[in-house]
Order: sequence, then C-alpha cells, then structure tokens
Amino acid sequence: MARTNQRDFYEVLGVSKTATVEEIKSSYRQAALKWHPDRNPKNKEEAEVNFRECTEAYSVLSDSEKRQVYDTYGHAGLSSAGGATDFNGTIFQDFHDIFGDFFGFEDILGGGRRGGGRARSQRGADLRYDMTLTFEEGAAGVTTKIKVPRLEFCSACKGTGAKAGTGATSCQSCGGRGQLAYQQGFFTITRTCPACQGAGQIIKERCLECRGQGRIEKEKTIELRIPPGVDSGTRLRVQGEGEVGANGGAPGDLYVVLEVKEHPFFERRNADLYCTIPLSVVQAALGTELQVPGLNGEEKLKIPEGTQSGAVFRIKGRGLPDPRGGGRGDLYYHVQVLTPTKLTRDQRKLMEQLGATLKVENKPAERGTSFFDKVKDIFG
Ligand SMILES: [Zn+2]
Ligand SMILES: [Zn+2]
Repeated sequence: MARTNQRDFYEVLGVSKTATVEEIKSSYRQAALKWHPDRNPKNKEEAEVNFRECTEAYSVLSDSEKRQVYDTYGHAGLSSAGGATDFNGTIFQDFHDIFGDFFGFEDILGGGRRGGGRARSQRGADLRYDMTLTFEEGAAGVTTKIKVPRLEFCSACKGTGAKAGTGATSCQSCGGRGQLAYQQGFFTITRTCPACQGAGQIIKERCLECRGQGRIEKEKTIELRIPPGVDSGTRLRVQGEGEVGANGGAPGDLYVVLEVKEHPFFERRNADLYCTIPLSVVQAALGTELQVPGLNGEEKLKIPEGTQSGAVFRIKGRGLPDPRGGGRGDLYYHVQVLTPTKLTRDQRKLMEQLGATLKVENKPAERGTSFFDKVKDIFG
C-alpha cells in the first residue's frame, strides 16, 4: 500500500500518542458516526474518504501489535509488515465488532454491492498451527517445513464452483448483489441474500471436484524459519498463507503458535537462564573452579573462597538470544552448599577438630527475601 501523504493515525482520531484502547474506541465511534456516508447524503464522497481514513486508523491503533509497529516505523512499517495491507479484510471484522449490524457497513467498506452483480469477495480465514519445539530448538532457532491443511482454489472450476462448460446465473432475489438492503430512518440495513448465500449468483451445475464451493481442501507445505530464542506462546505470522478467500477475496494469514519444552535444569526468565549447582562444604569454604553445563557446551565457573550457600554467579551474555534481534540474556548459577550426611569415622574426626576452632554466633539472621529478588538486588 504505497500511499503518500497519509495523515498521522493519532491525528486522524484526535487522540494522544498515549491514548488507551478505550479512548481510541470512543474517538473512533464518534468519528465513524459523524462521517458515515448515510448520514452525509450531501457530501457522500468526502464522508466516505473520512470514514475510511478513521476506520483504518482505528484498525491499526486498536491492535496492540500493529500499533507498536506503527509507533516505531510509521506508515512504512505497516506496509512492510503487512499491517495495513490487509486492511480491507480485517477492518470489516473490527467495524462489525463495534457496531454490529447497525449500519449497512458492508456497503461502505468495499463490499460487492457497489460492483453491481459481481459476487461479494471475502477475505479467507486465518489459520492457527500449533507447534512444539525442544528447548534446544527454541534456543537455537530452526528452519522447518510444516504441512498445513487449508482451503485453496479449486483448479477444476478456477474457483467459480460451476462445472466446466457451464456457467452461473445472476441471483434473481438480490439482482446479483448478494445482499438485500432495507432503508430504516438514517440507515441502510443490509442482509446477506438467503437465496444465494451472498454469492450473488446461482450455479446451475456444480463443479464435482469442490461440490460447487470453488475451494478445495489441500495440504500445503510451508517453509518456516523460527528465530532463535523463542518462548512458549510466541506467535509467528505468515502473511497470506491462510485460507484462500471466497469469490476472489484476499487470503487469510497463518499463525504458528509455539510451545517450547522445558529444560531439565535451566529455568527461563525472558532471555535469562537460571540453574542450581551443588557445592561441597569444602569447595564453598576454600573456593574452586568448576566446569558447569551452559547453553552451548560447558562454562567455567570460578567459586571464590568463602562462598555462601545461595550465592548467585552470573555469566553475562551466555543466556538465550532475543528473538526480536538485539543481545543475549545472561546465565545465572545459584550455588547450594550441601551439608554432608554420611561421614566416615575419619571425616567425622576432622569435622570435630575443625569445630573446636570454628565458631559461629547462633543468633537469628535477618528475614530473607526470595531468590529472584536477591538476584535482582545484586545484578540489577
Ligand atoms: Zn471446483
Ligand atoms: Zn441472491
């Protein structure tokens, strides 16, 4: 959608950059009522332009993902990310959500009625594909192929639904419009034509391949590149890989929803990883150097002399990568000093000798805080 001189969406709706979703919705509702073409019979064209403009602004600002893209990259970001390109498809739903069937909105938003006899096109459905990754795949990213069952154009009838060599006739009930309109006060109320189910035409002989649907279920193999560092709940959008639209409508999008399996000992907090490493009393007291498991092979962890149980050591930049680009998280090792439970006679003797000179004041310690709070305090 290479348009220039597009007005700022916030300006269009007359809201501030920090406006809440409710404020945006309310502003849009007012603007849409003001510019609804049915309420502006004398300047219908101007009203329609304004109506579309505020509806587009609303479709972006009311969607937190699109709004973020818009805030960062402006209009250009939306066209490259596909945020606004499918505007006519999704806007329909947005508008429907707010006003329901109150207006004859299909009419205004590029519906087929205007085309006079052309069947109404509909954007294809979005599809969801759930995918489970191992922890390692989620960390390193993966390129994979998935098979998605979806509706595609029927090649036998080229999507028309009519048997080869036969045609379709315009629906007589609605005059090929696919909709029936009723005037009620200010508003035109439109309904889907029951005779043709909105298609605007009636097929004499159905295509046998798709049973007159014009679309047919097929399995499509899609190559998917999953960036490194994704977490459970990450949703990847593959534009245009959803179902094909009815009557030549734009295809929907495919959403791949990821689930990343947990690691046996690394616990994840955003891009940071945490794990607990046991230490012997002697290692904690005298200090040592350990080889500990990391995300990519072993890490060297230096335990200084006099380390307390519960101490946390950080290895910077060795956590998970940020899937949105940017840096990596950190790796945290939480050490736990293990008290020996089965001492040999010699060990017990040594402990007793040590105890004769090693004294601790056994008075209550200060109330502790949680492990993660402590980590935050130390490393910020
Ligand atoms: Zn067919
Ligand atoms: Zn009809």
